[in-house]
Amino acid sequence: MPACRFVVSQVSLLIWLSWPGPRLGDATKVDENTNLITNHCQMSIRNGLFLLLFLLCQDSGIGQFMEENWITPFERDSSWSATRQEAHDYLDRLSAASPRVQTRTCGVSDGFLPLYEVVISADGETDPVQVKASGRTVVLINNAIHPGESEGVDACLMLARELAFQPDMQALLTDLVVVILPYYNADGGLLRSPTYRANQNGPRLQGFRGNGRNLDLNRDFIKCDSRNAFTFSRLFQKWDPDIFVDTHTSNGADYQATITVIATQPDKIPPALAEFQQQTLLPGLYRSMARAGWPMTPYVHTDGPPETGIHGFLDLPRYSTGYTALFQSLGFMPETHMLKPFPDRVRSTHRFLHSILHLASAHREDLLRARAEARNQALNCREWPIRWTLDRDRKDSLLFRGYQHTYKTSPVTGMDRLFYDRSQPYERIIPYFPRYRAVATVSRPVGWILPQAYTDIIERLAVNQVQMYRIEGDTVLQAPVLYISSEKTYTQPYEGHYPHVDVQVEERKEEMLVRTGDLWVPSDQKAIAYLMATMDPRAPDSWFAWNFMDGILDQKEYFSAYVFEDLAADWMKEHPELQEELNQALLEHPEWNSDPRAILDWIYRHSPYYEPTHRRYPILAIPTPVAWSLKPFTGVEP
Ligand SMILES: [Zn+2]
Repeated sequence: MPACRFVVSQVSLLIWLSWPGPRLGDATKVDENTNLITNHCQMSIRNGLFLLLFLLCQDSGIGQFMEENWITPFERDSSWSATRQEAHDYLDRLSAASPRVQTRTCGVSDGFLPLYEVVISADGETDPVQVKASGRTVVLINNAIHPGESEGVDACLMLARELAFQPDMQALLTDLVVVILPYYNADGGLLRSPTYRANQNGPRLQGFRGNGRNLDLNRDFIKCDSRNAFTFSRLFQKWDPDIFVDTHTSNGADYQATITVIATQPDKIPPALAEFQQQTLLPGLYRSMARAGWPMTPYVHTDGPPETGIHGFLDLPRYSTGYTALFQSLGFMPETHMLKPFPDRVRSTHRFLHSILHLASAHREDLLRARAEARNQALNCREWPIRWTLDRDRKDSLLFRGYQHTYKTSPVTGMDRLFYDRSQPYERIIPYFPRYRAVATVSRPVGWILPQAYTDIIERLAVNQVQMYRIEGDTVLQAPVLYISSEKTYTQPYEGHYPHVDVQVEERKEEMLVRTGDLWVPSDQKAIAYLMATMDPRAPDSWFAWNFMDGILDQKEYFSAYVFEDLAADWMKEHPELQEELNQALLEHPEWNSDPRAILDWIYRHSPYYEPTHRRYPILAIPTPVAWSLKPFTGVEP
């Protein structure tokens, strides 16, 4: 290309890139204080100027220059979502062109594909310690956890480019650092098909939900069955982001909004953070999205058609935002609507990310203050909720834009089928149940004793930077010990497990031997909420619930009846007080009168021959300080 043409093309590109506001992929300008009409005018002027220059020198190669450089795969073809490789390549080129963008590998998937970490900062700083010291806030964005729901991948390529080149977006980097995990479920992203998302309107090829081990990664944040989850936890703990965004596409009812949002359930997080989320961040987000032409509603989580009422979503720690909430990081899941055109879904997700960054920048100090206060509140909390239920007594209402639903006869089944009539849009106030209430709480212990045998749990605590100590010296102590008295267990596998639910325990005070090398996990630490959510067997995402201790549930030793007969006779003779209890048991179980084995078994369980470890929960929650000799332990990761 001759030098003068190159200069013209560069000037043209510069105008296009530096003009404030959106371009090909956008609907509106990024500055939320400017109204929609101005946005479109500015966009038209900028695009017009660009087009004029483009036409003036179209044989100069500028079109090709633009085409080859910063147009994203989605902008080139709006029915296409970038593959993982295309996304990584684009970001690598961006990194080479801009000192603000750094890409690096932060781990691997189960299929041993590299996972990228993209750090965008004003000064190219990639060290979280330096970033935190400078007072900047950190926003972490995760994409393609469900690769069929890939709007975030394409939105983030445009966002990264804008942060790299556009002065108005660069200004945000004074206050914040953006970290992007561009394609989290790398393995699922390799499997692309036009039919993986049966109910979804594009893109042309959609990735698959399962990862290399066919796991849904958005159920894996506590159990960490996948390498992806270990990689995520490592990245998350390193950055300790103030805000976390996980981009998705929804299934479910039909309604007018292109995009909805799940904010982390506020009843699960400390009051200071809940207040900041509910009073500042969420209202700002809804306002900003409405102003930009993408009015949002809360995620449409219902038992029936939306007009029957929307429920809040209980994002347990197995889900991304539930996990990040355990570390006082405010989590948001934008969920675009599956039936809306793919380009609209990408643009609304893109705008959502803009809004989050603007709000994080505008409220930086309040956000950091709320988080610090929330951490103190967590450390001072004595009674911890571990189970919740939807609070139907706290009914709110919501202006909802839906479509009239009706039923018509299905030609497939011959029965009634639900049908949303798009020719009958409505706008009406509907019931909204946003709150959850605790139905079980436990007292916070001073710490937990974790037997060293449970290395898989230790690995998970270690990757979450939980402070742990090795106990030095065998110690016998009186401790409250939990026995699992009952539980229900899934009869079908769920995410590689048969989880336990409705767990009941019986507490006994017993003398326990703690061995040298067992772990002491104090509760007075940043990870307190994570520990309260995992260490008590009754919590829905506890280690026990996720089958980490199933070894305790079956008996290991038994007796031969003909030998135990004599031992049982002696034991009952020595303990006449047991006879009354046995008589009572026989009244309750008349069938035992013809089942000698059952009677012997009852005596066995009430004798010292019965193993004490059967159904004994191995983690001890210690209520009062113990004078230990301790050695710091940073743990090992797999
Ligand atoms: Zn999803």
